[in-house]
Amino acid sequence: MTVPRRSKTQIAISTCRRFLGTRSWTRPKTMKGKSMYNSKAYSAASATSPLASTTIPRRDPTEHDVQIEIVFCGICHSDLHQVRNQWSGVMPTVYPCVPGHEIIGRVTRVGSAVSRFKPGDLAAVGCLVDSDRTCPECRAGLEQFCPNFTLTYNFPDKHLGGVTFGGYSDSVVVDQRFVLRVPSNLNLAGAAPLLCAGITTYSPMRHWGVTKGKKVGIVGLGGLGHMGVKFAHALGANVVVFTTSPGKKDDALRLGADEVVISRNANEMEKHVSSFDFILDAVAADHDIGAYINLLRRDGNITLVGAPENPLAVSAFGLIFGRRSLSGSPIGGIPETQEMLDFCGQHNITADVEVIPIQKVNEAYERLVKADVKYRFSIDMASLKSE
Ligand code: NAP
Ligand code: ZN
Repeated sequence: MTVPRRSKTQIAISTCRRFLGTRSWTRPKTMKGKSMYNSKAYSAASATSPLASTTIPRRDPTEHDVQIEIVFCGICHSDLHQVRNQWSGVMPTVYPCVPGHEIIGRVTRVGSAVSRFKPGDLAAVGCLVDSDRTCPECRAGLEQFCPNFTLTYNFPDKHLGGVTFGGYSDSVVVDQRFVLRVPSNLNLAGAAPLLCAGITTYSPMRHWGVTKGKKVGIVGLGGLGHMGVKFAHALGANVVVFTTSPGKKDDALRLGADEVVISRNANEMEKHVSSFDFILDAVAADHDIGAYINLLRRDGNITLVGAPENPLAVSAFGLIFGRRSLSGSPIGGIPETQEMLDFCGQHNITADVEVIPIQKVNEAYERLVKADVKYRFSIDMASLKSE
């Protein structure tokens, strides 16, 4: 019997799907008899439509649920990738899509079994709203690796059917286990991006042992990158920022960098060959990671958190010489996200944000594509009231 050959793309898609488990993105039937209410939101109707005002269903809180009135929601580049279906090979977008996973708000209602939150409390939700809670990853507090997790948007919604809707909305209902506490000293607009940009950069730095005396590179000074600079600096590392935008140099130094390299300048890059312990790559577009692999010292690691649409080319020799390693890292689990928020409370760390009304979200997306944001857009959800 002959087995049909599969293209590289088909193999890559099936590999990703195998990792992500047996999830199906086909729309399940809406469950009957569920108690729901309407929430205002912004959604995209297709990969080419702008985001526009809409109304979405939210479940009434069940016994373990917390209902949150959303005050701010950050705009992550992942929202843009997802809205425009740029990750169609791994996580195809189901429309209408309501993005947003950097959520800060106030608790408005709680279910009868909720012990950790009460109405009026500050609360936050990141990229995860559920997991199976029983697998080894969940038991280790690493829900980001659970084969049955539920992402905050564009994932099958176990309660209402269809897919989950994110934080570009005036409210959200989430099981208390996936709701985080927000230190009271933090500015709320700047704290929202900690829920994705914060944990996604904090987690790999903790994993790879970023501490005092280590030489750490941060590639791409965007939402993730600027949080990476703040964390690496707070952890005591010697921080070098690699940017394609010469105009960001002063900001990089102000944010905590010890040195800034314009990555398009080969001479500047050459000075750092074989010197880094760790590099965090937070670039959202095609770029040459080989140039950064060459900057690692023996046993150095480069971790990708940026998730560009197209595959990146890697030279085997760059890794072989120097026994260097290349890895990736997704968001973070619930305990580590709380640890990161508490760390931010202690060190008074928040994102540098440009606060916008929801009506400017499409303009913000265009600026994100041009790397023109300092350094995260945070949507003031009060602006949704006028829709
Ligand atoms: P962002 O704010 O748009 O920042 C991306 C930065 O990449 C830009 O500011 C720019 O920095 C640099 N860049 C853009 N185009 C470039 C190009 N052509 N060549 C070189 N550098 C370029 O995006 P973000 O929200 O930080 O997200 C970054 C990436 O991380 C996205 O792909 C996002 O989906 C991904 N992400 C992953 C996770 C995860 O769990 N792993 C979580 C969240 C986000 P300079 O101007 O300094 O060059
Ligand atoms: Zn994100």
